[in-house]
Amino acid sequence: MNTTMEKKILIIPGDGIGPEVTFWGKAILEQILSNHDYDVTFDEGLMGHVAIEATGNPLPDETLNKAKASDAILFGAVGHIKYDNDPTLKVRPENGLLGIRKGLGLYANIRPIILFEELLDVSSIKPEILKGTDILFFRELTGDAYFGEKKRSEDRNSASDLMIYHRYEVERIAIKAFEAAERRNKKLCSVDKANVLESSRLWREVVQEVAKNYPDVVTTHMFADNASMQLIKNPSQFDVVLTTNIFGDILTDEASQISGSMGMLPSASIGDGTGFFEPVHGSAYDIAGQNKANPLASILSAALMLDITFGLKDDAERVTNAVHEVLKQGFRTADIATKTTEKQKILGTKEMGKRIIDILRETTL
Ligand code: NAD
Repeated sequence: MNTTMEKKILIIPGDGIGPEVTFWGKAILEQILSNHDYDVTFDEGLMGHVAIEATGNPLPDETLNKAKASDAILFGAVGHIKYDNDPTLKVRPENGLLGIRKGLGLYANIRPIILFEELLDVSSIKPEILKGTDILFFRELTGDAYFGEKKRSEDRNSASDLMIYHRYEVERIAIKAFEAAERRNKKLCSVDKANVLESSRLWREVVQEVAKNYPDVVTTHMFADNASMQLIKNPSQFDVVLTTNIFGDILTDEASQISGSMGMLPSASIGDGTGFFEPVHGSAYDIAGQNKANPLASILSAALMLDITFGLKDDAERVTNAVHEVLKQGFRTADIATKTTEKQKILGTKEMGKRIIDILRETTL
């Protein structure tokens, strides 16, 4: 009997360093999945500035259709200096990303804040404060002021963005976050501003209701301003953090500094269908095309895909362990190098990617 399972993976490299780092995320997927009974087809799609240049649209229909027909997507980044310097431009690369999140119904953004012991000295936070940190963020992704009605007055002198949440939007992400907390250390902290925002009062009310179904999980609530302070003061107090779109956007970038570099952090966005896996960093056009980009966040995003879409938890762990091993051996890309340790060897994007592949090959023999 043929038990081979068919899976479709769409690669969307995007702009700037996107193609350079995604190359290595894909290489990891090919390396691992070739040892399993999967018949995997890879396809590629355009998004962002490159898509605007080619089609006039940051998210061409062809890409969205391919995305909907895929089991998982590995994405690089979008963004270009041309748009950053001209806020009046209406067609923008980021619209591609917002469009695909909406189009695929990706309502939960999952960001593990992984602490690499080998990089403790890269973080701007003291090692003794960082020790023991292991946080899993659940950021709501399709609601809040980012998607609420936007208005500008006729005289152009006032503007508003409607901060709106519906019960079902809070409920569905809360369930995912509580399920994760049950599999982890059984602690969930929900972050809002229920002291001043009505949408946050609804958020808190719904989280409290969902919490009743997870009696093993210790649930706490924290205001976003306090959470931003606690993350730096005592990050190891957190296990799962559940929060809204805007607060999550800010807090996860703050938390990225715990691991020392944006170049190290993966993320997954999920809904009820296709999963979307991407590094946390942007298109970093300041270093694009120079073989300087750190490919580890894309490689770790591939590991998240192996875990979440393919259920290959052990293989995902092997990839993470390979990253630890390379760092232990003293290899660094420039963004995670420190002046203090002499033993470090600086690698380019390609050399770092090859090292990880080599370790994975050795451990499969
Ligand atoms: P960025 O993450 O691209 O870069 C911030 C800094 O970190 C830069 O100095 C960059 O060189 C460095 N950096 C980022 N990733 C790195 C990596 N893998 N290796 C080594 N160094 C790395 O953020 P930014 O500069 O604020 O934005 C640049 C562009 O990216 C903008 O157009 C922005 O809109 C876009 N952006 C896109 C996404 C996304 O596609 N998900 C996310 C954030 C920003």
